[in-house]
Amino acid sequence: MVIDVLERGDLSFPRSLPEFQRMFPDEAACAAYLERARWGGGFICPCCATFGDPYRFANRPTVLRCRHCQHNSYLTAGTVMERTHTPLSVWFWAAYLVTSQTPGMSAVQFQRQLGLPRYETAFQILHKLRVGMVRPDQDQISGNPAEHVEADETYVGGRTRGKGKGVHGMALVAGAVEVKQRKLSSSLNKRRTVRYAGRVRLAVVQDRSAKSLGGFIERVVTPGTTIITDDWSGYATLEKRGYLHSAVAERGDMQVAETFLPIIHLVFSNLKTWLRGIHHGVSPQHLQAYLN
Ligand SMILES: [Zn+2]
Repeated sequence: MVIDVLERGDLSFPRSLPEFQRMFPDEAACAAYLERARWGGGFICPCCATFGDPYRFANRPTVLRCRHCQHNSYLTAGTVMERTHTPLSVWFWAAYLVTSQTPGMSAVQFQRQLGLPRYETAFQILHKLRVGMVRPDQDQISGNPAEHVEADETYVGGRTRGKGKGVHGMALVAGAVEVKQRKLSSSLNKRRTVRYAGRVRLAVVQDRSAKSLGGFIERVVTPGTTIITDDWSGYATLEKRGYLHSAVAERGDMQVAETFLPIIHLVFSNLKTWLRGIHHGVSPQHLQAYLN
């Protein structure tokens, strides 16, 4: 699974526990970090677009109030911490643990490490952080004229045994991936172009209709991007939706798919391996929670 690491030069990430303690000694420090993440160039009111330092409240560090229209902005809005009752400092500790410790920490270990009285709180925080790490942002992918996007869909999970024909209990996952290229020169000075995956977007979709698949593409890919798919009718509306569409593969022909859609198939294969690792037979509901 390819996961973005969003490096931001203006937001340093603590590399050790002492550094973490220095950076985030209290709620105000955590709030200031969130504010820099969202308004690095200074606060702009999302309601009236006024630029300027907002009112701040000592006992409510996550609220910024516009001096012009009195609108409250919440630093946690649109993040995994939205509407949380847990202090920011606990969330920051949790995020640090999840990203710096051995993967696969259990909710019980997590609860102990954070000193949380309730198991449910630990479970919720851990789950939300993991979901947030699978989909680190809501940005649309590509938009780069020098590269294209491969899109396809696949069934994952579920068990078919004893349920007759069909795909009972399986989830249909639509995927889109940026295809990047790098030129390698070997010792013999022969140039070779290597393709590799950029950012990935995955979502559970209802069915293979043009409405579902075209709608997915519209949500996750920047208009104007070149998209390669197979010739399934579910992708036939892409041109109408503002993309440069190239339908290459004859549907179901593995060899054609390997040639023209190799990166998205690699993503799907990694997704299936990863899902087998976290669940024995993932349910569509589980998958929905992980991907959406
Ligand atoms: Zn305002």
